[in-house]
Amino acid sequence: MVTAEAVIDLAALKNNLARMKSCQPNSKMVAVVKGNAYGHGSIEVAHALSASVDSFAVARFEEAVVLRNAGIQNAIVLLEGCFDQDETNKAIELKFQPVVQNDQQIAWIKNASTSGKTNFWLKVDTGMHRLGFALHEIVEKHSELAKLAAVDSFVGFVSHLSRADELDCSRTDEQLANFIEATKDLKGPRSLANSAALLTRPDIVFDKARPGIALYGVTPFPGRCGQDEQLEPVMTLKSKLIAVRDHKKGEPVGYGALWQSQADTKLGVVAMGYGDGYPRLMPTGTPVIVNGRTVPLVGRVSMDMLTVDLGPDANDKVGDEVILWGKENPVEPLAQSVGTIGYELLIQLASRVKRSYINGDN
Ligand SMILES: *Cc1c(COP(=O)(O)O)cnc(C)c1O
Repeated sequence: MVTAEAVIDLAALKNNLARMKSCQPNSKMVAVVKGNAYGHGSIEVAHALSASVDSFAVARFEEAVVLRNAGIQNAIVLLEGCFDQDETNKAIELKFQPVVQNDQQIAWIKNASTSGKTNFWLKVDTGMHRLGFALHEIVEKHSELAKLAAVDSFVGFVSHLSRADELDCSRTDEQLANFIEATKDLKGPRSLANSAALLTRPDIVFDKARPGIALYGVTPFPGRCGQDEQLEPVMTLKSKLIAVRDHKKGEPVGYGALWQSQADTKLGVVAMGYGDGYPRLMPTGTPVIVNGRTVPLVGRVSMDMLTVDLGPDANDKVGDEVILWGKENPVEPLAQSVGTIGYELLIQLASRVKRSYINGDN
């Protein structure tokens, strides 16, 4: 029997990709599927999108290997590049597209023990100041890279926006201007936009865009929901009632006795806890959907269970469906109530939560 389950709606995923394309019809799409596709299952997500995107992007070499082994033929960008010589050799052989963001990575490409060739992306530090070469180094690093034997047809340019999720923030304009200026006399494809830039900056038009979170139907903007951007939440996190209990007025429930009932009621115990990735700090009152109606979480979330107040007249039964987040209960406000963003709740979903896939054949 499946208890904790993340149902992934592949039609919603495809609709979100179409929405991203409509934001920027002149850019090819690099679908970001790092972190197991933000918790959604990178193999299934990549198969669903492979015919409609240019390429995929991941954060780690191993994540790219998983996709290749699953038969994904698209180019796969390694967003932070390779982390040692061995990875560099293999990445070239497997024709991954590593980002190059420091001199050590250039040395590994120079010393590669393979005669293979692939394409690379030079990381331009336009203002995030996390990875990449300084603006004045770009011409030199590009020519240094372009002449290496391992380079196939291009060395492209990539940069990342630090404040694109803040509307009307001039930092994005500065980064855009820096990117254009630093690469203006150089040949190669360019890529700058993330989900937030795709949704708000139709003027950021480069060869390729890199949407991540929006593909999964979640907004990058604080205080908003995916639906506000015409995105459809892809994941529905579900579980079941494993107990329904009469509960007396004034009695507490769970660790720390954090909550006491104001009245006689019925409590539902749900097979979902922080061991599944549902945050332990989720407060009393957080909405949970049981049999289609919203009821409050009460008391502390445990490792494997949480409790909800079903109300005195409830006739819910053991085995009934519970929805923790999804289309009917957006993840963004839940994330906000524990001081984080939707990205983190999705990606920290534990492996014991079964992923199942619907609407895959259209
Ligand atoms: C994660 C990531 C993205 C995608 O960002 P979203 O906000 O999820 O759209 C794009 N580019 C780089 C370099 C990233 O690390």
